[in-house]
Amino acid sequence: MKYKVDTSPSRNELGAVIVCAGKGERTGLSYNKVLHRIGIKTVLETTLDVFYDVTTNITVVAADCDMSKIGEIISAYKGVSLVAGGATRFDSVKAGLAATPCDTVIIHDGARPYVTRDIITRSIESAVLFGSGIAAVPCVDTVKRRTPDNAVTGLPREELFSVQTPQTFRYSEIRAAYDHAESDRIFTDDAEVYENAGFRPHLIEGSYDNIKITTPRDLLPAMPQNGRIGIGYDVHRLTEGRPLILGGVHIPYERGLLGHSDADVLTHAVMDALLSAADLPDIGVLFPDTDDKYLGISSMKLLSEVIAKLDDLGYTVVNISAVIAAQKPKLSPIIYEIRKSLASALAKPVECVNVSATTTEGLGIVGSGDAIAASASCIISGERK
Ligand code: MG
Repeated sequence: MKYKVDTSPSRNELGAVIVCAGKGERTGLSYNKVLHRIGIKTVLETTLDVFYDVTTNITVVAADCDMSKIGEIISAYKGVSLVAGGATRFDSVKAGLAATPCDTVIIHDGARPYVTRDIITRSIESAVLFGSGIAAVPCVDTVKRRTPDNAVTGLPREELFSVQTPQTFRYSEIRAAYDHAESDRIFTDDAEVYENAGFRPHLIEGSYDNIKITTPRDLLPAMPQNGRIGIGYDVHRLTEGRPLILGGVHIPYERGLLGHSDADVLTHAVMDALLSAADLPDIGVLFPDTDDKYLGISSMKLLSEVIAKLDDLGYTVVNISAVIAAQKPKLSPIIYEIRKSLASALAKPVECVNVSATTTEGLGIVGSGDAIAASASCIISGERK
């Protein structure tokens, strides 16, 4: 007979210690790598966002010099507390454990922002069943040991694993292991402290993506999972007696763009970029200029329809990069307004929508001041439903 084991501790039984007290000198940064921004969030925020879904009983351990900056970040996470770390990782984890009483505790490096909910769950389940759950991946490289006389010997690769965090433990066991460890011994991870106290670390499947940010190369932004690129382009003629609208912003000018809708050429290019990325028909097909329904319609309304279509398919917009080509009027004073307007329609921070403006040096229909052109590219991500 099989018994179903409940491996899901309630939120109050769970705790997490996130260690951020390292200096991270190998990254070449002049500041703690957990404060580095990857995209719009710091490394620490990216890590915390994954954990905060699992438990709010979190202690972040920081070095004295980073207490105020890290304190500022965690103030947005209700229930998360901050303690000062020690001279070594061992001392920092020990301080974090003392501040996080619970039944099952997850220990994680703040500089591993690509941890996933699945890895954390596997680690907790293993700790509940076996006492510990240590994320690890099989070694990809062949590992050699160099002997004192400079000879090298091979190690059996199939037995070797690279150990990561999260490492989850029964709280009472890991706390006792830390409290009774020899003070003169150097431990490189929590599983070693645990094993030293006579317990058996239990490995669970980590991920090769769950890297610890260590070198400058690790600081490059990660390509979003299932990222798809899109491109859109549009031109509209300038004429008298029409308003000039770009990215949903009304721009005072003696002429405006001619078209069936409000002729917002920038928003048209943005919509076509999004639709192209999602492998959907373009705006000419979706919103035909033969349909009176679209006569004079705000292109921002159409943009919200496009966003809803992407949303239905399971796609989210990562970023948009657009350029407007116009001889006149001068757009630089209003570019930030335009970015904010598009970003707000997309429910994204303004940093996700970049718009630049250029002239065409007097060349062509744009250069003669008779038209405005726009092109946009975007990245969207998600698994198509
Ligand atoms: Mg158009």
